Amino acid sequence: MSNATLGLLEALIARPSVTPGDAGCQQLIGERLQRLGFEIEAMDSGPENFRVSNLWAIRRGTAADGPVLLFAGHTDVVPPGRLEAWGSDPFVPSYREGRIYGRGAADMKGSLAAMVVAAEEFVAAHADHRGSLAFLLTSDEEGPAVDGTVVCCEQLRARGQRLDYCIVGEPTSLEAVGDMVKNGRRGSLSGRLKVKGVQGHVAYPHLARNPVHQAAAALAELVAIDWDAGNAYFLATSFQISNINAGTGAGNVIPGEMMVDFNFRFSTESTPESLKSRVHALLARHGLEYALDWTLGGEPFLTPVGTLSDAVSAAIRAETGLTTQLSTTGGTSDGRFIAKICPQVIELGPINATIHKIDEHLPVDNLEPLKNIYRRTLETLLA
Ligand SMILES: [Zn+2]
Repeated sequence: MSNATLGLLEALIARPSVTPGDAGCQQLIGERLQRLGFEIEAMDSGPENFRVSNLWAIRRGTAADGPVLLFAGHTDVVPPGRLEAWGSDPFVPSYREGRIYGRGAADMKGSLAAMVVAAEEFVAAHADHRGSLAFLLTSDEEGPAVDGTVVCCEQLRARGQRLDYCIVGEPTSLEAVGDMVKNGRRGSLSGRLKVKGVQGHVAYPHLARNPVHQAAAALAELVAIDWDAGNAYFLATSFQISNINAGTGAGNVIPGEMMVDFNFRFSTESTPESLKSRVHALLARHGLEYALDWTLGGEPFLTPVGTLSDAVSAAIRAETGLTTQLSTTGGTSDGRFIAKICPQVIELGPINATIHKIDEHLPVDNLEPLKNIYRRTLETLLA
């Protein structure tokens, strides 16, 4: 077992970096990378009361036109929740039954430790590597993600930094390290619908207009639509209502308005524009008086099978014997920002069964193969 990877993971867990806090994680990693010959640059961003730490680091290859591979990830973690519910302090690395416990163990300090040690081993064996190796870390992936990766990607684009491949360390594995990687993510589009009616007495409905009754048929139609059929890489687009609110609480009052929150997780077969126009047309056809606010959480991205997915799949097979599955399921990630400046983005990390939960942990035996898969990928693409 690589004590180097485990040791670094322990040090990272011990730094309580709840979003947007970094608690010194990036300084620790930056020092390790600097020692390896990386150029280090802080790209901190955001207001004083929500300052986000961002770190860009690059070790340039000997070939000026060589490929550039980026390791991307986040040092922030979600809040631990009720401390009494944890079996051990979430910010003190603890071991039980071959697992290391602590907030961020799986999402995603384990990946960060594995990436750093993979880089160390790779540089030790290939000090004159042809391609360039870079890191981009943020302390706001779990939060609003406004001053994190997206800001750095804008800066990198502005200065003309080329990126060819990116591996994001999000925990993607289901039962064994490498059994699944993400080669894309669905988009996320949310709507807040306000259906307007006229409040009145339930005994005098002709003097009122009930927005619940008016909207019911429209909502039934919305939930029944096949928005698209998906494609070879994506599940069909899904529509889900998350909140409905109407009524005064009294049993004899027809409500004056109804609020409905809904969300699309959409494939590359739909666009935010196509989904919006279909919803508006449907609401208009039902004759509703309404207001609708949209929030685009993220565009979908897709990395078709190619150089990076082949290298990652081969590394996983060589290290674990597994044939990995390419998938676009799950929530959004910072991959959506990086995909705008990097043509091939793959997410690959350890088992995700306990992320964001009480007693988050990682089987210790995930770390060594993960680190080796990262290093093998570097050897294939950059050496
Ligand atoms: Zn994460």
